[in-house]
Amino acid sequence: MATSSELGGGDLDTSEKEARIREFRRLCRERGERCTVQRRIILETVLDLDNHPSADQVFDAVADREPGIARTTVYRALDHLARLEVITKACHPGSAVRFDPRTGPHHHLVCLHCNEFVDLDHDAFDGLTIPDTSAYGFEVSDYRVHVRGMCRNCLEKTSKEESK
Ligand SMILES: [Zn+2]
Ligand SMILES: [Zn+2]
Repeated sequence: MATSSELGGGDLDTSEKEARIREFRRLCRERGERCTVQRRIILETVLDLDNHPSADQVFDAVADREPGIARTTVYRALDHLARLEVITKACHPGSAVRFDPRTGPHHHLVCLHCNEFVDLDHDAFDGLTIPDTSAYGFEVSDYRVHVRGMCRNCLEKTSKEESK
């Protein structure tokens, strides 16, 4: 059963967003960290964007609401929010870190041409056995499967160019 906290960014309704922001406030209090207005606005922005934004895309969107905000403030706040686990980092080696408002288990389709990131639900991936990595001195926190390839837009572009 998917709980509401596992929904994707674009599917978050107002009450879910408010619940996330309350959770953020609670975690800040619990850990004795400051819950600044800017951090809250940055969290709201990530919840509003449903395209797994990069830090720069979050900065562009936040700068519309908070003119004059520094890029480093946004970067630091995103790391802070990811540490609190109110958002996650959906990394793909070789491209910029992407931030994900969806914290529950899910996977991604990654386009190698335009770096598009799309949520993928697939029960068989959720049930993968995590190997014992103690020999590597490595502690697993979670995992995501990134299925790589070409998105619909890129496929259409390629087929148009080929038919020219
Ligand atoms: Zn693409
Ligand atoms: Zn995702």
